Amino acid sequence: MIPLSRPYIDDEDIHAVTAILRSGALSLGSKLPEFEQAFAKYIGSRHAIAVANGTCGLHLAVKSLGVKPRDEVITTPFSFVASSNCILYEQAKPVFADIDPTTFNLDPSKIEAKITKKTKAILPVHIFGLPADMDSIMELAEKHDLKVIEDAAEALGAEYNGRKAGTFGLASVFAFYPNKQMTTGEGGMICTDDEQTAKLCRSLRNQGRADTDEWLSHEYVGYNYRLSDIACALGLSQLKKIGFLLSEREKVAQLYAKELGDIPQITLPAKTTHKRSWFVYVIKLDKSIDRNNFILRLKEKGIQTRPYLPAIHLQPAYQKLGYKAGTLPVCEAVSGSTLALPFYTCMSREDVKVVSDAVKEVLASLNP
Ligand SMILES: *Cc1c(COP(=O)(O)O)cnc(C)c1O
Repeated sequence: MIPLSRPYIDDEDIHAVTAILRSGALSLGSKLPEFEQAFAKYIGSRHAIAVANGTCGLHLAVKSLGVKPRDEVITTPFSFVASSNCILYEQAKPVFADIDPTTFNLDPSKIEAKITKKTKAILPVHIFGLPADMDSIMELAEKHDLKVIEDAAEALGAEYNGRKAGTFGLASVFAFYPNKQMTTGEGGMICTDDEQTAKLCRSLRNQGRADTDEWLSHEYVGYNYRLSDIACALGLSQLKKIGFLLSEREKVAQLYAKELGDIPQITLPAKTTHKRSWFVYVIKLDKSIDRNNFILRLKEKGIQTRPYLPAIHLQPAYQKLGYKAGTLPVCEAVSGSTLALPFYTCMSREDVKVVSDAVKEVLASLNP
């Protein structure tokens, strides 16, 4: 079976982790600030706050920016569900605006109609590592006095007009689950230039503790969203080779583009003038092809693929909240015809060929 994804872990990573295990300082040690500082430097943000995973990073970003119950936050329906759940965690309402049919990112021309008196923020996602249209989004946010939170979980190292994704909004969030460009096992990072936001996130991550040595004094009702030093050591080691990780992933994407570029029933990932950070390799099938059957046929050939991504507003949990099919037609059409192919750092040329040949064979068998 060729897997959908697989983390890239080398001996350096393993040594970094075992060194921490031997040290006995497994949490709140020196690796936490080291990882945060190195990450902030890489992104070019003033502050970075490491957290247990991307989802709780998004939760703290939403909370620390002052999103309150019944506030509305405009976001994309074409994303991993966490980018919308984080709004619900604070009893606020995700308001979905439709996406662009080629980039799959929030379509800025669909945002303004969704703004009401209750709108507090816009939460764009740089989906599949391609930066959202940040000029238009920031302009709208300024015009309507809204805060912007970037979900950059899939976009580590991506650039918009030469500027790193995650440096536009008041806060941004990255994630380090094993399928992401770099991993800490589980982990996430909040980035911000705003002192106040950074301070609040730091406190909320650590049980609402004040910035003092008083372990049992709690200024806020906080959370335990800390990232262990074991994870931070792995993160530091991975971040050291981020250039390599990203360029190797790009090479795999180029191999796929060469193999699949001339097939009329397949649309490859969108190209824009902005720099994508390759997270997944998602192709779109022509309307005439049954995507779910296509996935089954590839599975029979030993190739793991996945519908990518299901529309958030059509998830059972969201339909129970009253979100309805037919309301976001572009997202719904894209969601019904896209799938992720196996894709990971240093995936071999041979494996890309095996997957691509299987894709071609399945297509041929479906269109005799
Ligand atoms: C991975 C991901 C997250 C959440 O990250 P976790 O670390 O798995 O909690 C959030 N948003 C998007 C778009 C993601 O891809």
